[in-house]
Amino acid sequence: MRPATAFRAAVLRSYAGPFTIEEVRWSGEPADGEVLVEIAGCGMCRTDLAVRASAGRSPLPAVLGHEGAGVVVATGGPGTGLRTGDHVVLSFDSCGKCRSCLAAAPAYCDSFAALNLFGGRPGDAARFTDAAGGALAPRWFGQSSFAEYALVRARNAVRVDPDLPVELLGPLGCGFLTGAGTVLHTFGAGPGDTVLVIGAGAVGLAAVLAATAAGAQPIAVDRHPERLATARRLHAVALPAAAPDLADQVRRLTGGGAAYALDTTGDARLINEALRCLRPTGHLGLVARLHTALPLAPGTLDKGRRISHVCEGDAVPGLLIPRLAALWRAGLFPFEQLIRTYPLTAVNEAERDCAAGRVVKPVLLPRGVAR
Ligand SMILES: [Zn+2]
Ligand SMILES: [Zn+2]
Repeated sequence: MRPATAFRAAVLRSYAGPFTIEEVRWSGEPADGEVLVEIAGCGMCRTDLAVRASAGRSPLPAVLGHEGAGVVVATGGPGTGLRTGDHVVLSFDSCGKCRSCLAAAPAYCDSFAALNLFGGRPGDAARFTDAAGGALAPRWFGQSSFAEYALVRARNAVRVDPDLPVELLGPLGCGFLTGAGTVLHTFGAGPGDTVLVIGAGAVGLAAVLAATAAGAQPIAVDRHPERLATARRLHAVALPAAAPDLADQVRRLTGGGAAYALDTTGDARLINEALRCLRPTGHLGLVARLHTALPLAPGTLDKGRRISHVCEGDAVPGLLIPRLAALWRAGLFPFEQLIRTYPLTAVNEAERDCAAGRVVKPVLLPRGVAR
C-alpha cells in the first residue's frame, strides 16, 4: 500500500504565535535508508519551546517534536534494518561519519546543531509542504514528530518490543534519555553513591528515577514545592533551592558530599552550590545550555572535583533506549508517572501547562486517545 501523502501536523509559523493544526504534504516515498513512522505519541521537550527564543536560527514554518514513537509503515530500500510493523522510538540525528560518531558519541556529532536544531540536511529542504504548497523547514531533530507521521533515517529509529506502551515511549528518545543517561552512563552511579539533581523537571526527575534504579540515593533540589513533592514520591530526598545552607545539608546527609551532581538549570548560583555539595573527586554534569558566563567561586573545583557538559546523556540511543525500556519492564524506571497525555490538537494547551510547570512531560497523541 502506498503510504499517506497528506497528514495532520502541528505547525509553528511564527516565533511568538501558537501552533496550528494543518495538513502537511510530501511525495509519499521514503528515500533509501529512510522509514515512515505512524506516530503514536510524541513528548514535548524544553528544546521544542526554545525555538521561540532562537532569534531566527531555527527556521520556520516548521513541524517541531523530537520525542516521537510509533510504528513503521513504510521502508525505503532494503538496508534500513527495520520492517513494516516494527515499533520504534525516534531519537536525535547524527551524521554517522565524523570522529565523534565513529567513537560512539553521536550526541557530540560535528553536525549535531545543524542536523537537529538549525535547518536539517540540505537535501531535505522542500520535501514537506503545507496545503498551499509552501515549503516547511527540514526535519526538526531528523524527525518532526508533532504529526501523524514522521519520516526519519533508520539511523535514528530504535526498535523496541511491541508489547511496550509505544505511545508513551517517545521521551526515552531525548528528555528521559538525557537524565537517565547522565546518571547511568556518564556517572555510572551505583549503590552507595548519592546523585544530587538540581532542577526537578522532566530531565531531573528521569535522573532521580535512574539513580534509584541504579541503587544510588537521589537528592532533588527545586524552587517549586509540587516538583519537590513529586521527587519525594520517587524516593528522592527533596530540598528547596532557596535553602541558604544547601551544601551543608547535603554534606550532612551524605557524610561528606555527593559523588555526582546533575544541573538542569544553567543557573550560576546553583551550579556553584552543586560543586560545594560534591565530595572530593565528585563530578558535576551540566545538561542545560549556559546563556551567561559561569563564574566559579574559589575552591569549588579543588580536590579533584570536575565539571563537564553532558549532551543527550552521552547516550548511544540504540543501546540506552532498550536498556531504559527493560528497566521500565522490571518496574525500576516508572517514567509513565511523569507523563500526561494530550491529543495533538491540544498542543498549545500542552505548551502552556509545560511552561507553567503544571505537567512534567506532556505527550501528544496524534490519534487523540491512548491505545
Ligand atoms: Zn557525526
Ligand atoms: Zn529534547
